[in-house]
Amino acid sequence: MAANEKSDGAPTALMRQYLEVKARHPDALLFFRLGDFYEMFYEDAVYAARVLGLTLTSRDKGKDPEKEDAVPMCGVPHHAAQGYIAKLTELGHRVALCEQLEDPRTVKGIVKRDVVRVITPGVIIDEETLDPRTPNFVAAVAADPRDGYGVAFADVTTGDFRATSVQSREALIDELARVEPNELVVVDGEAELAALVRKAYGRLPQSRLKRADATAEEALAWLEDALGAGLPREALSRLPAVALAAARVLRYARETQVLAPLPIARLELYHRDEHLIIDEQARAHLELTATMLGGRREGSLLHTLDATCSPMGGRLLRRWLLFPLLDVAAIRRRLDAVERLVAHHGARDEVRRHLGAQGDVERLASRARLGVATPRDLVVLGRSLARLPSLVEALSQARQDLVPEDPAHDGLDLGPDLGGDLAHALLTTLDDNASASTKEGGYVLAGVSPELDELRAIASGGRDRIAEIEARERTRTGIPSLKVKFNNVFGYFIEVTKTHLASVPADYVRKQTVANAERFVTAELGEYEAKILSADERRVAIELGIFQALRDQVAAASDRLLALGAKVAAVDVLAALAEQAHRNGYVRPDVDDGEVLDLRECRHPVVERLAAAGGFVPNDVRLDTETQQLLLVTGPNMAGKSTLIRQVALSVILAQMGSFVPARSARVGVCDRVFTRVGAGDNLARGESTFLVEMRETAHILRNATRKSLVILDEIGRGTSTYDGVSIAWAVAEHLHDRVGARALFATHYHELCALSELHPRVVNVAVAAREWNGDVVFLRKLMPGGANRSFGVEVAKLAGLPDVVVARAQEILRTLESDRAGGRGPSPAKPAQELPQLGLFDGARRPTPAAAPVLPAPLAVLEDIVARLHAVQPDDLSPRAAWALVEELRKKLTSTDSSAP
Ligand code: ADP
Repeated sequence: MAANEKSDGAPTALMRQYLEVKARHPDALLFFRLGDFYEMFYEDAVYAARVLGLTLTSRDKGKDPEKEDAVPMCGVPHHAAQGYIAKLTELGHRVALCEQLEDPRTVKGIVKRDVVRVITPGVIIDEETLDPRTPNFVAAVAADPRDGYGVAFADVTTGDFRATSVQSREALIDELARVEPNELVVVDGEAELAALVRKAYGRLPQSRLKRADATAEEALAWLEDALGAGLPREALSRLPAVALAAARVLRYARETQVLAPLPIARLELYHRDEHLIIDEQARAHLELTATMLGGRREGSLLHTLDATCSPMGGRLLRRWLLFPLLDVAAIRRRLDAVERLVAHHGARDEVRRHLGAQGDVERLASRARLGVATPRDLVVLGRSLARLPSLVEALSQARQDLVPEDPAHDGLDLGPDLGGDLAHALLTTLDDNASASTKEGGYVLAGVSPELDELRAIASGGRDRIAEIEARERTRTGIPSLKVKFNNVFGYFIEVTKTHLASVPADYVRKQTVANAERFVTAELGEYEAKILSADERRVAIELGIFQALRDQVAAASDRLLALGAKVAAVDVLAALAEQAHRNGYVRPDVDDGEVLDLRECRHPVVERLAAAGGFVPNDVRLDTETQQLLLVTGPNMAGKSTLIRQVALSVILAQMGSFVPARSARVGVCDRVFTRVGAGDNLARGESTFLVEMRETAHILRNATRKSLVILDEIGRGTSTYDGVSIAWAVAEHLHDRVGARALFATHYHELCALSELHPRVVNVAVAAREWNGDVVFLRKLMPGGANRSFGVEVAKLAGLPDVVVARAQEILRTLESDRAGGRGPSPAKPAQELPQLGLFDGARRPTPAAAPVLPAPLAVLEDIVARLHAVQPDDLSPRAAWALVEELRKKLTSTDSSAP
């Protein structure tokens, strides 16, 4: 701040300036630069002090901040501001950074100040605040009767700007869920749309656009002006809602960057039906990017799959995972490239080694464009670019026997422009150890500017000159201990010890007395000092000039660099997928337009990593629309039903994103949508009326699934009483079978549903096997044909550590219930009425013939025998005596093999 800003009359003028700036940014917290601090005033200060833990003071010293006429104030040091700003944006706030636009030393009166940038939840450019592997989108939505709804979103740190058209509110909410924006731009007068989004995403910060286009035509004209050839004008002119949404996002992003142009050069229009649609439920249930409980990245498919070497690759992998493809040719192109990199081990390692040395070219180029790149940033960019020829060399090993028409070619080619000119300019100008700050200079290499080199010589020659003066003065005065020294208070001075004071000449001016000496200055030293200081200032200024020119050069090339970054990112993702395929034994899926899904020895990519080596049991699953359309998966709790049905969905997603899949072989007929519904019992964290939510989600599936979809239903109907639950599950399965025709997996512990397979030709029963062993349950994890015949609920409860007395009592009740049923009397009111196990609800329908006893591992062969014996028995026909004999016989069989128990 200028010295006179502190004077008595100035505060009012300063506060006037503050209020004037604040009035233009009423919905942002204003960080007002005063010298080395950002200060906040009034309500901003009161609020920030509370949430940031700062001390609230008052602008008029001595006044109590609680008093009316005192202006509440608090501040943060400018160099530590990023952390505080990050905290505020995380809370959903916008922060306007108001800087000093003039050098306070050269200004009399109030320094000119204005907002240079607004930092918002969706528009953050500080690299320390951003997660390198996640995009940071700001989105907007709009409606128009001609084309429904438009969704647009942009990431200003990468130039990624996309938009699409959706036809229903449901699809609009879905698409927003997939994009996961951090901020939504709204305009006045569209309260209904804002409320719709708020209902679905209550915590998504909504920000108002200052100036919105009145019509779609106006929006289109404005966009064309802003993006020129980068705008898909033709297509957009038919999509007014999309044009409106896109203009809103871009206008908003521009509003936040007051000084610099955005690194956004083009708008990418996409169609929702170009991609496998994974709605919000499916994304959450399948834990694609975050776990269901806790929302952590670890444990998600993305985390398991992410072997990318650069942040750019990390972000693109996420995009491929959330937007898998439908086009068979495009999927195969990716698979071809992955296959190449799987096969060429050496090339893959080399490629990944060079990728590991890549900085975030996309974000670095954007930072240059936004005018915030530092010397350090540009060095990192330069080094990344300089590494690209080696990357291309390594890729050529993987491509060696490819002909140009070969589809794998595409993904493994970085094109002719590797930014070599920029790499050269950057690395021959900037020092390898350049710092992030331009304040001290020192980052421009010698030999770049003759003037700069000369000024540096003056600074270093200065030391010689001082030695010269010192020697001369010693001779002149005859004081051998005379020294020329420097301190920050009065610069260069001559120090003479007390014993020699008599010899001090008249032209020395006394400045200070210290313990054993006196300090003097001379006119010569004063002049010299001024020269050095001005040389130093000039030096810093010249370096800054060189740096800014360089940054402008990079900014001007940002479109090229973003395109190049995108190619490097794609190579990174392909190499990462190849690495995973190699490390974990994934196989190339055979992807086609058919309606068969055939997975042999398929595994769950995340669960198999958590299991002990070799501990995961692979399974075969086949689905098709002709004969095996709906697999009814039964088995006790904890048997592995959910894991199985999820691994099928994950394999489809992996295949369609271009990845190999965890199986021995895989054939995937492309799916248009993946739907999942997880029963209330597994999803309690959600609160609210879980049954209502479950039914709403099920309705959504039944309305939107097509013959091409994959539907995964887990324990549907569990959120209500057994009768209701079974009935609903039954009807849903029938509808999927008769009307929708989608390939579906239906996991349930309602064994009653097994009867469906007798009534409907394309319903097939399978069970995840489990066996009882000495009163405990043994999970075999193996999928067997036929339905399960027991639920082992009590055994599982025992496994979970339920007290023995409770387990024993449960067994007793279970026996009573089962004998009641056997006696045909139905449950008696005295028995527990909730969740009655295995009621004979569908006894009217023909019961399924019991499954052929599954093949058991050798030590369990005896069990198999016993199971077969039991299957053959008709309990109703047994006399008590015969029953006793049977039990005794089976018990003997068991005890004779106790030592071979698993
Ligand atoms: P369910 O849905 O039948 O209750 P889950 O699918 O939740 O059972 O599986 C229970 C546990 O069993 C999982 O946490 C997992 O660790 C393990 N599991 C599931 N499937 C397998 C498998 N094929 N191989 C090894 N362990 C498995």
